[in-house]
Amino acid sequence: RGTFYIVATPIGNLEDFTDRAKKVLTEVDFIAAEDTRHSKRLLNHFGIDTKLFALHDHNERDKANYIGSLLDEGKNLALVSDAGTPLISDPGYHVVNFLRQQGHKVVPVPGPSALITALCASGLPTDRFSFVGFLPAKSKSRRDEMSSWTPSQGTVVFYESTHRILDCLVDLEAVWGDRIQVALAREITKTFETFLSGSVADIHRILTEDSNQTRGEFVIMVSLPEQEEDNSEALKVLKVLLKELP
Ligand code: SAM
Repeated sequence: RGTFYIVATPIGNLEDFTDRAKKVLTEVDFIAAEDTRHSKRLLNHFGIDTKLFALHDHNERDKANYIGSLLDEGKNLALVSDAGTPLISDPGYHVVNFLRQQGHKVVPVPGPSALITALCASGLPTDRFSFVGFLPAKSKSRRDEMSSWTPSQGTVVFYESTHRILDCLVDLEAVWGDRIQVALAREITKTFETFLSGSVADIHRILTEDSNQTRGEFVIMVSLPEQEEDNSEALKVLKVLLKELP
């Protein structure tokens, strides 16, 4: 039986591609990629010409069986996403879950992930954190999710796109005001890498004053106020009751 490798790729700086990742991607029989055209460009750059096929959110349940049968034939496969670590807000969970249930060998080849790269340089607490992926696209659901956060989660980390960054900061301020500390990591490992920290209002002001600061990819990190820990249950009840008010 073959091995299924989960291979992390750079999130910007190509020098972050590990030697082991390149070796595994060169040696496997097939690479399952989120977007084959995107990954082909990266692999061409490194002279890797392994055959690719597409594995994305819409076909991964169907592809799990196919991947299992290739592994049964003794083929080795690797999974890559467009950037960073597969399965982290990227496809692959259903395949890995299926392969584990079938007793296949799944081997991680670690490397960059925007989540950890942003958090470690943010200046916010790292001893405990919650990664919540992408927040809902609609403002109402986003605010509901934001108001559900509690200090016991530690630093809350999430991904945001250029399209929603300003709306997201507006919602964050509406829900938490100046009670939270925020760090924003933009374009990490790339030319315009920027770390901002302060209150939501500070960060929102910087982004509205300079539209260049709203470009690119973002990780947002939020440190919730400690003193609310004791009355978080009471606050939850209060929030439920407030929703009932006309
Ligand atoms: N699997 C990836 C990982 O391990 O980081 C994340 C994939 S997710 C679809 C893409 C999101 O990750 C972007 O919208 C952005 O929020 C974040 N991201 C990826 N690269 C980034 C970078 N260089 N700087 C800041 N955020 C980044």
